[in-house]
Amino acid sequence: MSLVDVKVPDIGGFDDVPVIEILVKVGDSVKAEESLITLESDKATMEVPAPQNGVVKEILVKVGDKISEGTLIVRLEAEKGEAAATSSTSSASSVASPQPQQAPTPANTSADNKLATSHAAKAPSAAVVSGGGVPRADATRRTEVLVLGAGPGGYSAAFRAADLGKKVTLIERYKTLGGVCLNVGCIPSKALLHAAKVITEAEEMAHFGVKLGKPEVEVASLLNWKNSVIGKLTKGLTGLAKQRKVDVVHGKAEFVDDHHIRVNGDDGQSELVFFEHAIIAAGSQSTKIPGFPYDDERLVDSTGALELRSIPKRLLVIGGGIIGLEMACVYDALGSKVTVVELGPQLIPGVDADIVKPLHKRIEKRYEAIYLNTKVAKLEATPQGLKATFEGANEKVAPQPDVYDRVLLAVGRRPNGKLIGAEKAGVNVDDRGFISVDNQQRTNIPHIFAIGDIAGDPMLAHKAVHEAKVAAEVIAGHAVAFEAKTIPSVAYTDPEIAWMGLTEIQAKAKGIAYEKASFPWAASGRSLAMGREEGITKVLLDPATRRILGASFVGPNAGELVAEAVLALEMGADMHDIGLSVHPHPTLSETLAMAAEMAEGTITDLFVPKKK
Ligand code: NAD
Repeated sequence: MSLVDVKVPDIGGFDDVPVIEILVKVGDSVKAEESLITLESDKATMEVPAPQNGVVKEILVKVGDKISEGTLIVRLEAEKGEAAATSSTSSASSVASPQPQQAPTPANTSADNKLATSHAAKAPSAAVVSGGGVPRADATRRTEVLVLGAGPGGYSAAFRAADLGKKVTLIERYKTLGGVCLNVGCIPSKALLHAAKVITEAEEMAHFGVKLGKPEVEVASLLNWKNSVIGKLTKGLTGLAKQRKVDVVHGKAEFVDDHHIRVNGDDGQSELVFFEHAIIAAGSQSTKIPGFPYDDERLVDSTGALELRSIPKRLLVIGGGIIGLEMACVYDALGSKVTVVELGPQLIPGVDADIVKPLHKRIEKRYEAIYLNTKVAKLEATPQGLKATFEGANEKVAPQPDVYDRVLLAVGRRPNGKLIGAEKAGVNVDDRGFISVDNQQRTNIPHIFAIGDIAGDPMLAHKAVHEAKVAAEVIAGHAVAFEAKTIPSVAYTDPEIAWMGLTEIQAKAKGIAYEKASFPWAASGRSLAMGREEGITKVLLDPATRRILGASFVGPNAGELVAEAVLALEMGADMHDIGLSVHPHPTLSETLAMAAEMAEGTITDLFVPKKK
C-alpha cells in the first residue's frame, strides 16, 4: 500500500487560515483535483484538491483548525497502478493551487421562495476577489480598502469594510464627511422643507379658525438652524470614522494606476496611496445648460439655492423634477413668487399622471406660473435681473421673455466618472461619466468597485448605501449581491409624492399586464383631520397572482408610507396579505391596506359598485 501525504500548498503567504469545511470522509474514493477541504482567509475562500486519484485513509484536521502552508491534512492511499506523490512539504507544489470557490446563491435571495421564482437574479460573477498589487516605493500610505468619496455611499462602504476587519482609507475632497446629501442636498433641503411646511400649515390653519398671523422669517437664524443640523450629522460621521479607525484623508484624488491613487490636498501637499481594493463613490454634480451666465451669482444650482442668501421676489426654477420642485416649495413658503419651467409634458416625468395631478393643482394655485413643454432658450444677465427667453416644445407657443431676481437650474445631475482618472486604473467610464458594474458592484477591473450615483441611476442616497454594503462585503469575501427588487423614490414636495416598483407608465411601455386599485384620501379620516383631501394611494398588481407590482402615493407624508409597499414587494405579498394586515386607525398608513381592499372588492370605507 503506498500512502500519499496531502499537505497545504502555497496559499499566498497566509498563515493560520481556518478550515471551514471538510469535503470528504475516510473511505471516500477521490479523483485528482477533487476538493478535500475548504479554507477561508479574510481575503478568499480556497479549496485544497487531491493531488491524484486515491482513497481517503486518514483526515488529520477538523473544522475550525487553523492551518498554514505545509500542514498535513489528509493521507490518501494511491490507486493501484498510480505512483504515490512524494510526501514532503515540497510535494505541496505537486498539489494543484487552491481554487477560488464558485459563488453560492447570494445570501439575500434566500428569504422567500415566492420571491426567488419571480425574481431571476443574475449570479454574482465570483465570491472571491483578489487584491494584490505591488506598492510603489513612493507610496506613503498603504491600505486594504480605499474608498473614494465620503457621501452616504462612501462612508457606508468604509464603515462596513472596517467593521469586517479591513484597514480602510476614506478620501474626501471637502472638509466635512457626508457628501452632497448631508452637506448640500437631502438633509439641508429637508430642514428648509420642514420650515416651509410649518409656515404653510400655519397659514392654512386660518381656514379652521386658528389665526397665527403672518410669520416673520429671520433668514440668518433659519440658515444657522439648517447649518446646525448639518453640523450635528457631519460631526457624528467624523466620530464614527474615528471609532472604527478609518483613516480619513482630505484632498482631491485621481487614480495613477490600478493600485495607486494620488491625493492632492488644499494645502498643496500631495500623497500617493497604495490600495489592494478600491470602492469609487465619487458621486455626481448638477448638469449645466451651455451658454448660461454662470458667473452671475443670481443663477444658482441646488447648492446655491440651499445657501439661502436672501429671499428673491421672483424665482424662476428651470426643471420641474425633484430638486426644482422641492426648492420651489421652500421659496414659495418663504414668500418668493415662483415660476417653474419644465421641458416635458408634466411635472416629475416618470411618475404616473394621476399621482402628479394633485401636486400640480395645489402648486399652480400658489405659484406665479408653471410652464410645461417649455425650455429656457436664453438666459441673460441684466441689471434688473436674469432675463429668460422661453421656447415651446411641440410647437407650443412660448411665454414672453421675463426677468427674474434669481434662477435655479435643476435639470438633472451627471456622474463624476470622468473627473477621477479612472481610465488610468483601466476602469471603463461611459460617455456620460457612469461606471458600469456587475451585481456585486465590481467594475471591469476586478478589485475596483463603484457605487452610488457614479454607478448608475437612480441617483439616490439609499441606493448608494445598499450598494456600499454589498461592495464592502464582497471585498471581505462574502457571497452577496445587490438585487433589490425596487428602489423607492420620494419628492418631498407639498403634497409629497412617493413611488416604488412598477408605474403605469412603465407597465404600458413594456407591455406588462397589470390591474390597479386607487384609494382616495378624501375617504381617509386622518387625512381629512389634517385638512387635506387630495391624496391618493394606488397599487398595481399582477392579475394572475394578485401580488403587488408597484405602488404610488401622493399626499402629506407619502414618503413615510412607501416603505411598507417596498417590503410587500420584496416579500411577494399579494392584495390579501396587505388588506388583511391590521393597520392602526386612524393613520395615513391605512391607505395602502384600503387600496388593497379596493383591489379585492372588500372595502367598506367606500362604496364601489360591483363590476357587471
Ligand atoms: P430630475 O431628473 O429629477 O429633474 C430634472 C427635470 O428637468 C426633468 O423634469 C426634466 O424634464 C427637466 N429638464 C431637463 N432639461 C430641461 C430644460 N432645458 N428646460 C427645462 N426643463 C428641463 O433632476 P433633478 O431634480 O435635478 O435631480 C437630480 C437627481 O437628484 C435625480 O436623480 C434625483 O432623483 C436626485 N434627487 C433626489 C431627491 C430625493 O430623493 N428627494 C432630491 C433631490 C435630488
